[in-house]
Amino acid sequence: MAAVVYVVDDDALVTDSLSRALSLETEWEVVAFNEGARALAEMPRRPPDAVLSDFKMPGMDGLVFLGRVRAQHPDAVLMLLTGYADKESAIRAINEVGIWQYVEKPWDLGDLILKIRQGLERRALVGELREKNQTLAARLGELEKAHDELVRAERLAAVGRVASGLAHEIGNQLALVGYAEAIRDRSVDPEVASFAEVIVAAQRRLAALVDEIKDFARGAAAGYAREPGDVAAAVEEALGILRFDADVKARRVNMAVRARPLGVIHRGKITQVVVNLVRNAAQASAPGGEVDVFVDADGDGAALIRVRDRGSGMAPDVVARLGEPFFTTKERGSGLGLGISRRVIDEHGGTIDIQSDPGVGTEVLVTLPPLPASKLP
Ligand code: ADP
Ligand code: MG
Repeated sequence: MAAVVYVVDDDALVTDSLSRALSLETEWEVVAFNEGARALAEMPRRPPDAVLSDFKMPGMDGLVFLGRVRAQHPDAVLMLLTGYADKESAIRAINEVGIWQYVEKPWDLGDLILKIRQGLERRALVGELREKNQTLAARLGELEKAHDELVRAERLAAVGRVASGLAHEIGNQLALVGYAEAIRDRSVDPEVASFAEVIVAAQRRLAALVDEIKDFARGAAAGYAREPGDVAAAVEEALGILRFDADVKARRVNMAVRARPLGVIHRGKITQVVVNLVRNAAQASAPGGEVDVFVDADGDGAALIRVRDRGSGMAPDVVARLGEPFFTTKERGSGLGLGISRRVIDEHGGTIDIQSDPGVGTEVLVTLPPLPASKLP
């Protein structure tokens, strides 16, 4: 494509002779004007690659004109044509506007053409460099992200190792606490029996926590069998289990099954995910509040499980940390529920999306891939 070269001078003799001479350069398209304002009016239609302007002109002088060009076309090559007497003031002004060259009148035509050409070459180079820079910046951003992911993964793995060691140790000691049950059952002293009962309850909670930690630390490597199954049934089973959960009992859970999609699932794991999500929803809601659970299928037959509450919602800093092991805002939370749920759904090839508005509520959408055609009954 031809480079567009503007020539602006109030002296028609200059514009005529210059545009004739420059037009001989076949790779240039030369446009000439005798007023800066006219040239500016043309530029939106025909953006300039290079602009040569006279310094002293009635109306808009050369530097004001070139300053305006610079503002609209930051990459254009700007050249000022000046008389010898104007040199000092021209140089000062040039530094302000950012002009590529000034050329003293009368000029040597060959020299002038060379300068224009150099300006255009430099401009192309700068453009290329800028592009390279942008690519580099983008790459750098990607690298930084990958690095963050790695650090995070490594930290998770480390947390997992420590947690699994702890769970093992606590699990061993818990067996001893099992004696509390025997003490409770055999004691004739009601006070002793009631103390023992407290220990038994604590043991149950701890045992559940240990199971959760072991599950978390199990790592993605340990697989489990999945088979074609009814996703809604897993959800129903979860709600059945939760009938005995104190937090859930104090809220109303509405379930709507709009479709009965099939998936290749580990039913127990999916049940566990729903238990986690519904329990979170209940715990975030005021007593008497409602939690909605929907099961549906999308057009491709993918299963959708939606758990919605109108509870506390989450601030962005909480959302940002979801799934981080042991991150909890609850006095008695393990901070493992969502992390484990995410992993289970990951292992099923599905996704979990969380939308939350502080003070409004939270909606969690689990998507599970449809049953592949080969597995259809
Ligand atoms: P835990 O329930 O043991 O705290 P989770 O991993 O299940 O661990 O949840 C982590 C945190 O995410 C919770 O402590 C809570 O702050 C927030 N959270 C999860 N679900 C909801 C929800 N439905 N509404 C509000 N906050 C939630
Ligand atoms: Mg939870």
